[in-house]
Amino acid sequence: HSDAAPLLEVSSLGKAFGGVQAVGGVDLRLERGEVVTIIGPNGSGKSTFFNLLTGIYAPDSGAIRLEGVDLTGLPGHRIAQAGIARTFQNIRLFNNLTVIENVMIGMHTSVRAGLLETVIGRKGLRRREEAAREAALAHLSLFRHRLFPRLDHPVFTLSYANRRRVEIARALAVNPKLLLLDEPTAGMNPYETAELVENIQEIRASGLTMAIIEHKLDVVNRVSDFVVVLDQGKKIAEGDAETVRNDTHVIEAYLGH
Ligand code: ADP
Ligand code: MG
Repeated sequence: HSDAAPLLEVSSLGKAFGGVQAVGGVDLRLERGEVVTIIGPNGSGKSTFFNLLTGIYAPDSGAIRLEGVDLTGLPGHRIAQAGIARTFQNIRLFNNLTVIENVMIGMHTSVRAGLLETVIGRKGLRRREEAAREAALAHLSLFRHRLFPRLDHPVFTLSYANRRRVEIARALAVNPKLLLLDEPTAGMNPYETAELVENIQEIRASGLTMAIIEHKLDVVNRVSDFVVVLDQGKKIAEGDAETVRNDTHVIEAYLGH
């Protein structure tokens, strides 16, 4: 890959479901370390855009390049290996597994355990497990005050906000090049939201490139470099939060729904 290429370059990305053009030719360019928030009315194609970026759906048209490498149409596990990680609008965790197990699972996706055991032996595997636990702890340390007391609790016993935190830690644990967060503050109260904003700011300070779907404009202002507005699958505005807030197309899109 080339260092001159942007971290992410999405061009004319499109996807229809039956007669509905969920995403209708969206462009997006992200440099390394940049953070974009994506806003738009319900049903404007935000989650579908993430589903295309992560290979849950193959696009009908357009292209996705990460550091110049074409990922268009690759299956989800290949895109994950290439470096795109995400969280979901509806949290997806293994509810019967513990906090630390959920994060460790995220790190094991590229390794076939059986093959590994033949190569490095039982002892080697155990050492590797310990190393994985250490690494999982390092990623969970972002949420240490909330999650360190609950490392060995099954996820179903956690509060909603804590489950969101586990999901973010799990996505971070694969050391992605690009992190996608789909409505990370949804369902959180104002205190939890403010705390998550600080967490996201800390992730951002580490230099990770992110795209975040977010409705709350005060959050948008505090976590991102620029904002993209989708409406009916199309990008209708892009720029800083203040500019898009005053854009007539954006005002119409929100009033019209
Ligand atoms: P947002 O996340 O902005 O609320 P979505 O991306 O979830 O919007 O949905 C965009 C449009 O695509 C909606 O009209 C939705 O009903 C439709 N859509 C999304 N996923 C599917 C699917 N798997 N099958 C059919 N329609 C879908
Ligand atoms: Mg959505």
